[in-house]
Amino acid sequence: MEFKNTKSFAKQCDQEDKLQKYQSEFIFPKVKGEKVIYFTGNSLGLQPTRAKAYVDEVMDDWANLAVEGHFYANKPWWDYHERFANPLSKVVGALPEEITVMNTLTVNLHLMMVTFYKPTPKRFKIICESKAFPSDQYMFQSQVCFHGYKPSDAIVEIDRREGEHNIRLEDVLAKIEEVGDELALVLIGGVNYYTGQVFDIKTITEAAHKTGAYVGWDLAHAAGNIKLELHDWNVDFAAWCSYKYMNSGPGNASGVFVHKSHHTDKSLNRFAGWWGHNKERRFKMEPNFNPVNGADGWQISNLPILSLAPYLASCEMFDEIGMDALIEKRDKITAYLEFILHEVEKEVGGNFEIITPSNPTERASQLSILLHGEGRALFDYLMENGVITDWREPNVIRLAPVPLYCSFEDMYNFGQILKAGLAK
Ligand SMILES: *Cc1c(COP(=O)(O)O)cnc(C)c1O
Repeated sequence: MEFKNTKSFAKQCDQEDKLQKYQSEFIFPKVKGEKVIYFTGNSLGLQPTRAKAYVDEVMDDWANLAVEGHFYANKPWWDYHERFANPLSKVVGALPEEITVMNTLTVNLHLMMVTFYKPTPKRFKIICESKAFPSDQYMFQSQVCFHGYKPSDAIVEIDRREGEHNIRLEDVLAKIEEVGDELALVLIGGVNYYTGQVFDIKTITEAAHKTGAYVGWDLAHAAGNIKLELHDWNVDFAAWCSYKYMNSGPGNASGVFVHKSHHTDKSLNRFAGWWGHNKERRFKMEPNFNPVNGADGWQISNLPILSLAPYLASCEMFDEIGMDALIEKRDKITAYLEFILHEVEKEVGGNFEIITPSNPTERASQLSILLHGEGRALFDYLMENGVITDWREPNVIRLAPVPLYCSFEDMYNFGQILKAGLAK
């Protein structure tokens, strides 16, 4: 498609956008009385207008029913989490029984490692990406130490080549082969939080399985952003937070995928709690754990219903739209933003480069720009002028043109503000 750097072209794209009506289903902060251009949906998604009613419903049921709400609320609390299985299974490409919602992301990855990281003196290594999200790095280190191994022996990072910003698939596959039968687990972020690089989950999972390792994915930046087929790709487990692309609210609950092939495997460890116990017998308060047959069998505690409520509102929105429509717009608006950045570069000789892969199959809803000059001043200028982006040390601004609520006109307007900021 031939893009143009004009307001009228951007407006025309908005008119043709099938998701346009959803822009009014989100609440935008304002700067100087104007709706902001919001590029940080990869960090905290905007509040859906329908979220509040879902929270109010729980508050009202609590007021009117108190303990009876567990069974008699409009959406009973004791199995409230089961309402996520259908919509989320479509978001991540899973069977409904492979999905559960609980805790928060890092906690769930730890719990999944209890099950899927079973090191032996022969097979104890973990492959991850270099410069993984810090929480994941701390998790790996503490898990390895917990099992009595040294992080420097057990954690194998896949590096970027000298002068390159992204990890090559061939280097991931070579590392898997090199570690071979010492490999216990591969756990990588499906979309890199810093560069926006999308990993080839299917190919990497297949390669690691050939060595006999388990494979899990941290989908913090992938859920609600990229096309996933976790079941068909034979991913062993995955977890994601819901407050980024899934717009569930700050610090909110995490989704978990456990492949069906593991649901009844008694050789796997798990940390148990009463909410993972056989649903029909949960309140019989029996002494021995008899897990639910499915990802819900990894549940531990009864759930924080007030925080699940806005997540459910958001899931229903994803269910209405479907990932295919979302991805279609995502690709177009991301390409348009890339075009605008190149136009600005041509016009003012901007001193920056896009470090996100230019190949559309290796990126999703994020472009990261590395600034070579006075980065911080430009970032401050953007923020003062209603462009909400985020700053990552040493000199990177991440832009996520989230297809649910960003418009093509936003991209055009951003280009004008960026140009003015660079010219200063
Ligand atoms: C955002 C993010 C997290 C956040 O973890 P929490 O436990 O929800 O605080 C973890 N991993 C990755 C890759 C992330 O991008």
